[in-house]
Amino acid sequence: MRPLKALINLEHARSNYKRVRSLCPRSKIIATLKANAYGHGLDFMANAFSDADAFSVLCIEEAIELREIGFDGRILLLEGVYEFEELKIASAFNFDIVVHNDYQLSLIRQLPDLKKINIHLKINTGMNRLGFDIENLPKVLKQIADSKKINQIILMTHFANADNEKGIKKELNTIKNLIQNYKYDYSAANSAAIINYPETHLEWVRPGIMLYGASPFQNKTANELGLKPVMNLVSEIIAIRLIKKGDSVGYGSSFIADKDMQIGVVACGYADGFPRIAPTGTPIIVENQLTRTLGRVSMDMLCVDLSNVSNVSIGSKVELWGDNLSVDEVARHAQTVGYELLCAVSSSIRVPLSISYG
Ligand SMILES: *Cc1c(COP(=O)(O)O)cnc(C)c1O
Repeated sequence: MRPLKALINLEHARSNYKRVRSLCPRSKIIATLKANAYGHGLDFMANAFSDADAFSVLCIEEAIELREIGFDGRILLLEGVYEFEELKIASAFNFDIVVHNDYQLSLIRQLPDLKKINIHLKINTGMNRLGFDIENLPKVLKQIADSKKINQIILMTHFANADNEKGIKKELNTIKNLIQNYKYDYSAANSAAIINYPETHLEWVRPGIMLYGASPFQNKTANELGLKPVMNLVSEIIAIRLIKKGDSVGYGSSFIADKDMQIGVVACGYADGFPRIAPTGTPIIVENQLTRTLGRVSMDMLCVDLSNVSNVSIGSKVELWGDNLSVDEVARHAQTVGYELLCAVSSSIRVPLSISYG
């Protein structure tokens, strides 16, 4: 069997959940499970975060899957529904929905009166992606105030800069003004805001990346934040060769040896989710020793420097990211963020680990 595996550490997932719980003792937690639980598998993660007050996903198929595996709590559709048929399904399954525009409001008006739906009314506070503009909010709220189709209304917004120095000051002022005027539940904080801005916790928080043990920040590691990596992407050395000074490695011959050296081939490539853009020098662990990748990442393989790695042979263990090398560190070399690498991991290679080995 091909040795590449994404080992999913459910103990670490539970520990990260507890970390969120301790940071926001008074808020309800919506565990973000979109993108197949950030590449970790919807079923595994729904299980690990079963204490959460709600789950959120993007598409209704994922929400139905959660119902089918037995989760009968609140499930939020993060972009709401895309058409009326879907709204009927959402209402039948008791899903909460985001409502971010007039089109979605008009769909709700077409629902029969007997079923009431919970809506998370999305407000644009500067992201300029989804949501009603503040100046239209009084009108919208007036429209739905006595709606027979709506159960709970939660006012939600999403921060554009909770993870960087631009911060959330303006957005927070907007929210405070709303709270003065409208007595609803509020939902604003993603992982970065949960960690950096306790004043944004309000009634509901929406952690994502921190639950998976990666950092939402460029300048703070997951470890520093008390988070534990949930995914260990591991494989093995499947070939070893000696190359001579001047020899090149891989497509495009982008790496050229400046001395005779031993290199290894790892069973993992961009088809599995390892970023093709990761250049020579991207960190990787072989036989518990830190080394570097060499040359271009291929579809199913990549090459590593074994010059200073001892006790190596075919079958030697390789960690691409996980407990000993953070996904954020690898992402930095690939000019991206841990989020993207985790989400890209092929769903065929996941294996749950219910034991802690950290
Ligand atoms: C993805 C998402 C989150 C979680 O964000 P993290 O940065 O992963 O914590 C929260 N809220 C909304 C609306 C999202 O789309």
